[in-house]
Amino acid sequence: ETKKLQGQVAIVTGASSGIGAGVAKALAVNGAAVVVNYSSSADKAEEVLKEIKDEGGEGFIIKADVSKEGDVLKMFSETIRRYGTVDILINNAGLQKDAKFHDMTLDQWNHVIGINLTGQFLCAREAIKEFMRRGIVPGRSKSAGKIICMSSVHEVIPWAGHANYAASKGGVMMLMKTIAQEYAPMKIRVNSIGPGAIRTPINYAAWQTPQAYNQLLKLIPAKRIGESDDVGRAAVWLASDDAEYVNGITLFVDGGMLLYPGFEDNG
Ligand code: NAD
Repeated sequence: ETKKLQGQVAIVTGASSGIGAGVAKALAVNGAAVVVNYSSSADKAEEVLKEIKDEGGEGFIIKADVSKEGDVLKMFSETIRRYGTVDILINNAGLQKDAKFHDMTLDQWNHVIGINLTGQFLCAREAIKEFMRRGIVPGRSKSAGKIICMSSVHEVIPWAGHANYAASKGGVMMLMKTIAQEYAPMKIRVNSIGPGAIRTPINYAAWQTPQAYNQLLKLIPAKRIGESDDVGRAAVWLASDDAEYVNGITLFVDGGMLLYPGFEDNG
């Protein structure tokens, strides 16, 4: 049986940790060659690549800060030099710099917007250029290229104390939809995944103690935290031809967090 992403090349930004690592492994198991991007922890990126290779997968590591145009251009040119092209971009790199709004510094604002939003712009632009140059390769994919933006339930749910983060994800939503609209005629698909609470280092404080975890579960109808694998499987589906007719959506992977669970026993 041929694998769903056989012969395709995927760049996963921020793949040395958490969701990015989970998505990178899921894409590789499904046949994609994966570029494991990282910005600071080379050893963690090596570990992810080793796990990919141990499972019979293919890939290599590239250091790049997605908020820097030069780094992003180099990441794409190096990928194209090694593998000939790029079929899938997973725009995953992101972080939080939390502060009460009245205390938020311009640096905190710019840092989060620079990585979470401008970083996705820079990577998506390079991917779109390559997708347009190459077009559809018969037998490989019915699309000329796929972009998956890692958004969040916070593209919808306001989040006190995280104005920079919520604004970045709201921005990602309209960036994703606008690119999807602009390039749909070229058979390029652009979608987002909106994770709820996924067990990764970004939200360690929300699940590390039983008290914090029980508090978190009040927000999750499924009554468990999500795992990076939950997101990995969604990414494989969205990137594959099974989702050929899916364009411009956010696929929420949140155990029902967006069902406003506070209302479940409200009169
Ligand atoms: P994480 O901290 O484990 O991973 C984030 C990754 O991004 C790390 O590998 C980090 O090195 C990388 N990164 C940060 N700045 C970078 C830069 N300038 N250039 C390249 N890489 C950079 O957190 P995670 O939970 O895996 O987060 C991944 C994505 O998922 C983020 O966009 C985050 O906003 C989103 N998300 C996470 C959750 C969750 O509950 N964990 C929920 C919703 C959305």
